[in-house]
Amino acid sequence: MNDVKRVYRFGADAAGNDVTEGRSSMNYVLGGKGANLAEMCRIGLPVPGGFTITCQTCTDYTSAGDTWPEGALDEIADAVQDLEARMGKRLGDPTDPLLVSVRSGAPFSMPGMMDTVLNLGLTDASAQGLITQTAAEHFVWDSYRRFIQMFSNVVMGIDADLFENALTEKRLMAGVRTDSELSASTLHELVEEFKQIFCSHVDPKAHPELVQEGRVVFPQDPKVQLKLAIEAVFGSWMNERASIYRKQHGISDSLGTAVNVQAMAYGNKGESSATGVAFTRNPATGERERYGDFLVNAQGEDVVAGIRNTEPIQDMATYPALAQAADDLERIFVILENHYHDMCDIEFTIEQGKLWMLQTRSGKRTARAALRIAIEMVEEGLIDRDTAVKRIDPSQLDQLLHPQLDTTASFEVLARGLNASPGAAVGEIVFSSDDAVKRSNEGHPVILVRWETNPDDLKGMVAAEGILTSHGGKTSHAAVIARGMGTPCVCGVEAFHIDAKAKEVRIDGSDVVLHEGDLISIDGGEGIVVLGAMPLTRADLTGDLETVLGWADEIRLQEDGSHPYHVRVNADNPDDAALALDFGAEAIGLCRTEHMFLGERKNIIQTYILSDEVQERSRALEELLRVQTSDFVEMFRTMDRRDVVVRLIDPPLHEFLDDPRELAVALARREAEGAPQDELSLLRARLRRIDAMAESNPMLGLRGVRLSFAFPDLPLMQVRAIATAAATLIRDEGLSPRPEIMVPLVSVASEHIQMRSIAERVIQEVESAFGVALDIPIGTMLELPRACLTADEIAPLADFFCFGTNDLTQTTFGFSRDDAEAKFIPAYLHQKLLTANPFETIDSAVLEFVRMAVSKARTAHPGMTFGVCGEHGGDPASISQLFNIAGVDYVSCSPYRVPVARLAAAHAKLANR
Ligand code: PEP
Ligand code: MG
Repeated sequence: MNDVKRVYRFGADAAGNDVTEGRSSMNYVLGGKGANLAEMCRIGLPVPGGFTITCQTCTDYTSAGDTWPEGALDEIADAVQDLEARMGKRLGDPTDPLLVSVRSGAPFSMPGMMDTVLNLGLTDASAQGLITQTAAEHFVWDSYRRFIQMFSNVVMGIDADLFENALTEKRLMAGVRTDSELSASTLHELVEEFKQIFCSHVDPKAHPELVQEGRVVFPQDPKVQLKLAIEAVFGSWMNERASIYRKQHGISDSLGTAVNVQAMAYGNKGESSATGVAFTRNPATGERERYGDFLVNAQGEDVVAGIRNTEPIQDMATYPALAQAADDLERIFVILENHYHDMCDIEFTIEQGKLWMLQTRSGKRTARAALRIAIEMVEEGLIDRDTAVKRIDPSQLDQLLHPQLDTTASFEVLARGLNASPGAAVGEIVFSSDDAVKRSNEGHPVILVRWETNPDDLKGMVAAEGILTSHGGKTSHAAVIARGMGTPCVCGVEAFHIDAKAKEVRIDGSDVVLHEGDLISIDGGEGIVVLGAMPLTRADLTGDLETVLGWADEIRLQEDGSHPYHVRVNADNPDDAALALDFGAEAIGLCRTEHMFLGERKNIIQTYILSDEVQERSRALEELLRVQTSDFVEMFRTMDRRDVVVRLIDPPLHEFLDDPRELAVALARREAEGAPQDELSLLRARLRRIDAMAESNPMLGLRGVRLSFAFPDLPLMQVRAIATAAATLIRDEGLSPRPEIMVPLVSVASEHIQMRSIAERVIQEVESAFGVALDIPIGTMLELPRACLTADEIAPLADFFCFGTNDLTQTTFGFSRDDAEAKFIPAYLHQKLLTANPFETIDSAVLEFVRMAVSKARTAHPGMTFGVCGEHGGDPASISQLFNIAGVDYVSCSPYRVPVARLAAAHAKLANR
């Protein structure tokens, strides 16, 4: 016995009483279109009657290998009979036929991705019946040829061009520009030609039900037409473009599509008929104005296909035959907004002056429009602030913060890579950081093109408008730094074969060879590279963003059953800190101090690491202390009264040293040039030391807190710099700096405990030297599984925990964060081995480590705070889970992600209410 309800009616019965069974909340059952058709019926809008076959039926049909579930076809047959009774017409009736549309409609809008068949029910006999009824031969033959064309293409997969070519030929022969100008008799001829095309392209073995007297015929039984059309719509759920769209938008493959079978309303019945699409507000700007297009004497697909020029919706009232419908439409715009409390997107048809609604849904809009609409709807009393905040998609905010490629211009993609840091940039190609600095100082915007960047490239990265690497993933050096700086970056462009010496790039699958100075454009939001200079656009940063983010802050900082959710920034220089304050960051959650050792200062740290002479090393250390102290003074001044979490040195040392391959080449060259022996022995000694420091897996080697034990002077110097900078500002400027010290890559509690006692000793020395009291909390970075598992052992002596989810992801999966995204994660996503890139959106197992560590630590050390400063701290989906599942107190992300994180944090709180 099968008691699953598979079909839901909508619309009125023969007596005009509403018999709708669905409603708008049923979009998982009826798809968005079916649910909203039902809702429009319920609120009394004019909707042609019909029924919706559920999404579950599609899922059951496709998962059973295209086999109908038991009872479903009977239920559909009953629904057809019921619809015939309600409409007072029968499918295929040779005197007065009912015609229907068969449309897809998934739970989430997937515009244009799946299939639709219009005018179903037309046969040779019913076409004659329709002519008798309407006396409109032109309309009938036009509808019939459209039906054969759509049925052939959508249901049978016959090439649409075959029909378009026949149509074009007829237009040329008749000397007319548009299809609607063709005569009724020409359209009748086309019907016969289209049927011929159909018959000669359908495989009789695949469709025995269409074979009569040994040859394929166009189906003359509307029940057969309907069954095939529904099956085709089900099948279109799995077509390639729909699958790609779902993947891009994170829609599950298992949802299925509903099928809406609905009595046809005709926009092609002459000059008092029309069809159109409209939005209740402007979806590009959000302005409160009607927005849309219509076409007189046409069917829906003509608007979308762009064959004829549409007219703006505002002009509809100027057509006397459409004036009443234009009035009704205006009234319905208001009803829809008052009912849905949102900007709606609608499709409508006017049949001989009468307006019919064919679809409504929440309208897609740009970020700018989303803000404007949300604010105005609050002002109009349509929605409250919580709803307004919920309506803005945090990931859309990137659109407002970075320049974009002007997509109205035409362009061809030269190569693709990972969309590592959003925004677009145009510039001349340069292959080294020195060249980047030189050319940009000469006033030329540049794109730094590198195999991969390393910390030494920082000056070039700062000078460049955009960064492109042929290797590395979204947490590679280039990606992290670019996002931090807000510089557009495309990384992992594997088609680029970069020869930095020859200063040229060869590209897989292209004849183009790029040289230094050639202009390219990149879009780091899309991960694309374009040859030449593309125009860029920048959306105005209106006050709307500030207003909505202000509302978001009120929500996320409330004590409303759950604790407040704070947003900090990852910043390691005063400029980034100041920018982040403008963007609303509350504190610095991660200052990566190693960035302060780069550029001109690299020599100093190299001397410290490589020199054998004690005095030289201690001079280098003194120098490092001096520059770090002055850096911290500036940072703490900028961030006065706000926490600044300073992480002790973390990266593997090779990042500060010369590349041994380059050094070996330089040595060989100098030998060949007969350089003096002194110089050569110095170079050889240097090379030996660098070689001796090489590690097979530096990311799992001598880095993090381990470095502090191998080079104990370094953390002493860093803590002294932090404490001295704070003490100076308190004593000399009366400021209230709030530094915190963070120990990276701890795996056992003893590492943290020892570092803490070393740091406390230094802080006490500085306190006595300056005569001021310092309160500098000391916390641990949790970024290794062992540390998470033993969080309760580390917690009693830690003032806070901050999760380094980049390293935690790397070590939980055993995926190299520098290689995985370029080498195999895309393939894993494609093959559905992973549902999301774990370096972008936090993985459930990594999240579980965070949740467990927070819970253990809370018990061991009540009142402790917990943050996350990996890249996940700027990812909306992760921000939500980190709050609602793991219970963290703050996220810290790069400056340009701060507005995104503020909004996402408010969403996380709202989801919890
Ligand atoms: C992390 O590992 O998540 C982190 C923030 O540290 P880094 O990226 O500097 O290793
Ligand atoms: Mg780390």
